[in-house]
Amino acid sequence: MALTILTRRRLKLTSPRCFSTTSGLSSEALASAKQLRARSRIEEMDAVQPVSHHLVDTFKRRHNYLRISLTERCNLRCFYCMPSEGIELSPDGKLLTNEEILRLATLFVKSGVTKIRLTGGEPTVRKGIAEIIAELNSLRQYGLKSIGMTSNGLSLHRRLPLLIENGLTHLNLSLDTLDPFKFELITRRRGHDAVLKALDVALKSSLTSVKINIVVIKDLNDSEVLDFVEMTKEHPISVRFIEFMPFTGNKWDKKKMVESSELLRHIQARHPHVQRAPDELNDTARSWTIPGYRGNFGFISSMSDHFCSSCNRLRLTADGQIKVCLFDATEMSLRDQMRMGASDDELLQTIGRAVSGKKEKHAGMEDIDVVTNRPMILIGG
Ligand code: SAM
Ligand code: SF4
Repeated sequence: MALTILTRRRLKLTSPRCFSTTSGLSSEALASAKQLRARSRIEEMDAVQPVSHHLVDTFKRRHNYLRISLTERCNLRCFYCMPSEGIELSPDGKLLTNEEILRLATLFVKSGVTKIRLTGGEPTVRKGIAEIIAELNSLRQYGLKSIGMTSNGLSLHRRLPLLIENGLTHLNLSLDTLDPFKFELITRRRGHDAVLKALDVALKSSLTSVKINIVVIKDLNDSEVLDFVEMTKEHPISVRFIEFMPFTGNKWDKKKMVESSELLRHIQARHPHVQRAPDELNDTARSWTIPGYRGNFGFISSMSDHFCSSCNRLRLTADGQIKVCLFDATEMSLRDQMRMGASDDELLQTIGRAVSGKKEKHAGMEDIDVVTNRPMILIGG
């Protein structure tokens, strides 16, 4: 298997720090080009599928993407996500039931959501995930186009075929290192082999898209960036380098963060002919390809170059709160409203109030409110 060979070889690639500019534009010109791009994306989306006014915010962003967290539990303990002292889990009775998830998903899809992504905690530890996917699949009749999942892949390789059969179309696999020892350091657990197996099954499957998420941490896995890029040579995958983000209890330190622009310069030093790949509509990653390679790589630069102007995401936490921004601690409980007997119309009003309170952009990296916001594991990435 090409992947195994790659990890075994553990390519010893050096990290030349070559600094060159990628664009001759002034910062004002870049900002206005970004705004134009965001506006044209919104227009493209308008043309594709109508969205209820409850899902349109005051900055005209149309929210057609819902991320649903299925659980607060996880079978790994990644240091950048989970506080070292662990987290207090909500009692089971406070979590959304399968029926409540389906009711809300139906309401969102009928209001214009076309993409659903399941996350967690680790979504595969939720009992009945295969049935949840099958039920979500029935929402295609109302306009749902894709069902994705973000998973650490630890217990996925045997179950993936059934999830795909039930309707899963997109998989994002979190794999921060190709080195089993570093894997244990990062996740505080064993299981690197199992994740590679899941990746292998995914690559041989009929999934529409397979992506690898890599949170890049200075002096830990930043030296592996070229190895991950090399995986896109033979495999039609996207590897996405994510900037380390601050959340409650994750000991974020600016010095541990590697800006995407620095990574790109590093990759360009090795591959001078990298080309910008077209962005998917509302994709958070800026993507690139190397001529002749089957896949692509990209950067999720939430810290150094946020993508708030084209953000189309809403989040539903496992305990039923709607969150309109990863970095905004404000939440509204759809669970409590449902359990008090609210009608679909009343739920939609609450969703509309949450959406209209969405800020234009999140705070800069030093000012993000990590005190009142949840740890990442309780939001879902
Ligand atoms: N357990 C699943 C997984 O790891 O893929 C899904 C949940 S996890 C919270 C979702 C994504 O968030 C993962 O790709 C993870 O790498 C990313 N993530 C978690 N903490 C992060 C942080 N502090 N900065 C950047 N990305 C983070
Ligand atoms: Fe678990 Fe995913 Fe968080 Fe790692 S990133 S601790 S796998 S929820």
